[in-house]
Amino acid sequence: LPADRPGNFESFAGQHELSAILDRQRAAFLANGPPDARQRKDNLARLRAAVLAQRSELADAINADFGSRSRYETEIMEVVPVIQAIDYYRKKLRRFMKPERRHVALPYRFGRAYVELQPKGVIGIMAPWNYPFSLVMVPLITALAAGNRAMIKPSELTPRTGEVIGRMLAAVFAPEDVAVVLGGAEVGAAFSELAFDHILFTGSTQVGRKVMRAASENLVPLTLELGGKSPAVIARGAVNRQTVSSVAFGKLANGGQTCVAPDYALVHANDLDAFIAAFSDAAAHLYPGGPDNRDYASIINERHFERLHRLLDDARTRGARLIEIGVGPNRAPKRPYTIVPTLVIGADDNTGVMTEEIFGPILPVRTYQTMDEAIAYINARPRPLALYYFGERNADCAKLLKRTTSGNVGINNTLLHVAIDDLPFGGVGPSGMGAYHGIEGFRSMSHAKGVFIQARWNLPGLLRPPYRKVADLAIS
Ligand code: NAD
Repeated sequence: LPADRPGNFESFAGQHELSAILDRQRAAFLANGPPDARQRKDNLARLRAAVLAQRSELADAINADFGSRSRYETEIMEVVPVIQAIDYYRKKLRRFMKPERRHVALPYRFGRAYVELQPKGVIGIMAPWNYPFSLVMVPLITALAAGNRAMIKPSELTPRTGEVIGRMLAAVFAPEDVAVVLGGAEVGAAFSELAFDHILFTGSTQVGRKVMRAASENLVPLTLELGGKSPAVIARGAVNRQTVSSVAFGKLANGGQTCVAPDYALVHANDLDAFIAAFSDAAAHLYPGGPDNRDYASIINERHFERLHRLLDDARTRGARLIEIGVGPNRAPKRPYTIVPTLVIGADDNTGVMTEEIFGPILPVRTYQTMDEAIAYINARPRPLALYYFGERNADCAKLLKRTTSGNVGINNTLLHVAIDDLPFGGVGPSGMGAYHGIEGFRSMSHAKGVFIQARWNLPGLLRPPYRKVADLAIS
C-alpha cells in the first residue's frame, strides 16, 4: 500500500495499475515455483504475529467504520476466527499437500496414479464490509496455505479497516506475494475483470452475478460466498430460554449484519406467544439497557439504516405487528444509526421483510402448523446460505435436513458452523457457489493435477495396434 495514498479510497488503482500488480505476482509465482510446507507455515506464522500485534488498532478502525462496534465483538467475531484459521491450516497443510494415490485399472497396471494439489497461482479476494477483517483474512489464509499469492479488494464502506489491513499486509508481505487495492464499485468491477487463477468473492448475490459475468470473460473459476434469507425452524414445543437465546444471539450479533444470521423464524403456531416472550427476555439478557448497550453494534451507514426503516414501515403499513425490544415508549437509541431489535409478527409473504435479505436486527416470525408446511415454505424460496433447526433430533429434524437444501445447517445453535474450521462453508444456488474453510477451501484454491506414471514393465504397451489381439483381453 503506497504510503502516499493513505485514505484515498475513491480510485486507488486503475485497470492498468491493477493488471501490473497481477503481472508481477504471476511472474514471481512462475519464477519461484510453489512454496514448500515450511514456507507456507512461516507465512502464516508471520501473519499471526501481525494480527495479534494490530488487534487493538483493528478494533478501533472497525469501531470507527461502524460508528459503533464493541472491541470485544470484533475480537470474538473476527480476530478469534482468523487466529483459529491460521492455526488450523498450519496444522493441516502438510497432510493436505500430500499427493493422493489413485486406483489404476487392470490394463494400466503396474503404473501408478496420484493426484497432486498444486497452487493455482494468484487468487483475487473481494470482500464485503460486515466482517471487514475476517472476510478478507480467512480467504487470504486459505490462499497462502494452498501456496498461492493474492490480491485483495476490501469494501469501501469500511475504509479505515481497509487501510489497517493494507498497512498490516504491506509490512508482512512483498507486493508480489500479497497486495491490497482499495476502492469502490468501479475498482471492484475492474478487479473482477483481471485474469486471476481464481476469485473468491464474498458479498451480495446481485454483485456476485456481475463478478461471475466478468470472470467468465477470462474463464476464471470462482467461489461465490453470497447472502440470502436463512430460516430458523423451531420445532413444536422447542421454545425455551436456551433455544431462543441462540436465535437472538445469531440475529442481534453485529447489529444483525451477518450473512448467516437467522433471517426469519418459523415457529409452531401454538408457540408464538412463548417465542415472543422468550425472545424479548433473551435480547434483554444479552444487551441489558437495550440498544444503548456498548456490545450492540450500530448499522454501517445511513443508506442501510434508511433501508431497514423502510422495511419496518412497509411491514407496519401492510398490517404486521412490530414488537420493539429494550426501549421504552418514545425513546430512540442514543447512538446514531442504531436500530432497535424488532420482531415482526404476521408479515405478508410479499412484504420486503419476507422477500429481501434483512441484514439488520429485525426478525420476522412466521407460524406453521406442520413440519411439512415449514419445509414447503423454505423450498418455495431461493436456497438459503444457512438453515437452523431447534428441537429434538427426531424424525421431523431428519426430514427437514433431507428435504431442504442449504449451504450449511446448524442444529440447536446459530452461526457456530462457521467457526468449525474443518467444515466447508458456503452457499448453494443464489446463496453461493463452492465453499472454503477446511480441505474444501484448500482444494478450491489448488489445481488437482492427476499424474500417471508408467512402470517399466506394464500392460499399456499392449493397447496398441494391431488392436484385434488385445481388445478381447482389455474388455474381459
Ligand atoms: P456487495 O456485494 O455490495 O460488495 C462486496 C464487494 O463487491 C465490495 O468490495 C464492493 O466494493 C464490491 N463491488 C461492488 N460493486 C461491484 C461491481 N459492480 N463489480 C465488482 N465488485 C463490486 O456486498 P456488501 O454490501 O459489502 O455485503 C453484504 C452482502 O454480503 C450481504 O448480501 C451478505 O449476505 C453477503 N455476505 C456473504 C457472506 C458469506 O460468507 N456468504 C459473508 C458476509 C456477507
